[in-house]
Amino acid sequence: MYKIQSAKLLKEVMGNYFLGMLNEVKSASGGKDTSKKMAWCTSVGPAELLRSFGFEVHFPENHGALLGATRTAGDFIPESTKIGYNSDICSYLTADIGSYLKKQTPLQEHYGLDGPPKPDLIVYNTNQCREVQDWMTWFAKELNCPIAGITPPRHLDEVTDAHIQDVAAQFKAIIPACEKASGQKFDIDRFREVLKLSKEATDLWKKVLGTAKFSPSPISFFDATIHMGPIVVLRGTQIAKDYYAALLKELEDNVTKKIGFLTEERSRIYWDGMPIWGKLRPMSELFIQNNAAVVASTYCNSWVFDAFDEKAPFESSARAYTEIFINRSEDAKLKILSGLVKDFRIDGMIFHDAKTCANNSNSRFGLPQRVTESLGIPTLVIEGDLCDLRFYSEGQTTTKIETFLEQIESSKTISMVR
Ligand code: SF4
Repeated sequence: MYKIQSAKLLKEVMGNYFLGMLNEVKSASGGKDTSKKMAWCTSVGPAELLRSFGFEVHFPENHGALLGATRTAGDFIPESTKIGYNSDICSYLTADIGSYLKKQTPLQEHYGLDGPPKPDLIVYNTNQCREVQDWMTWFAKELNCPIAGITPPRHLDEVTDAHIQDVAAQFKAIIPACEKASGQKFDIDRFREVLKLSKEATDLWKKVLGTAKFSPSPISFFDATIHMGPIVVLRGTQIAKDYYAALLKELEDNVTKKIGFLTEERSRIYWDGMPIWGKLRPMSELFIQNNAAVVASTYCNSWVFDAFDEKAPFESSARAYTEIFINRSEDAKLKILSGLVKDFRIDGMIFHDAKTCANNSNSRFGLPQRVTESLGIPTLVIEGDLCDLRFYSEGQTTTKIETFLEQIESSKTISMVR
């Protein structure tokens, strides 16, 4: 059976990341003396700027994904609804706050952590959604922690110089909060170094994802959701760069040897929207059983930041974090998708309508229909959620996906016969 060998290294890298936080927790309870400060950051927030101040960085969405993947989110969401959060809103938010309220987390079992480490500063960027602002503000009040935010213009067709100047100024405006919480003066050279490392890691990540352009593809969307851990939580570090260099080497070797997760790709599929974290394995198996290669996604591409440039650290960070897919207009999204469909030779596209994340569900304003009309490829909308499995019906979804894949195959056969 095909296996990506770098998964062992990934486990080590992610384990060390969480155990690094364990030291922080011990420090907070007085057990250890460490000068490291802790910042919480949203997943497409200004991680590089924070790291330049020497902060360890925790990403609450990463914890949310862990709650989804371990299928524990359902135990915690009701705790948030008790304090007034509707269970139809972001299930990362409701699961994460619920986990805090219930004082339980899978981090206990896996890493011996009582919970995510206490922050000295919380920073968010609403480039992805307003939910992160509410979520982080709740924790800032609960933990009596300073908070700073970036609120860029949203849903952009084009990202203009005026947008960049606005957002770059907002990046600069959070520096005093970082200086106060870290006890360190801002050092632009350090910021440039971290941004350079982040750029190198994100370039490698892009190449990793790009190996799926080949057939047989050496990496699926489902593999990529696991291997994206370091680009989310460790970007701006040498560790992330080294990890993706190793992973890329393995995948490129597999491309050369023509080894992939499928020996025969009967169709190549694009996945739009969030993963269904608690169903990654059965979902992956379902596509493999049907010889369908899910080779590209909006989600994993979200951590490709082409614009980073250490020569203009503020402006390039502002551009990279403002031009992300989730923050673009429907027209801009269609353009981005059309490039990816062509590059990855996509036969069909599946849109995951995640019930608690309207922000990252792109099927609600006619995009699937426009994809079919303008790109000539079939689309399917499936209903589910990132964490809350009450919104997901396995039987129904399996039937829908199998029917969709059969239709793609038969239309390919017909066009070959013609
Ligand atoms: S983008 Fe969606 S899943 Fe992510 S934090 Fe915002 S609402 Fe939650």
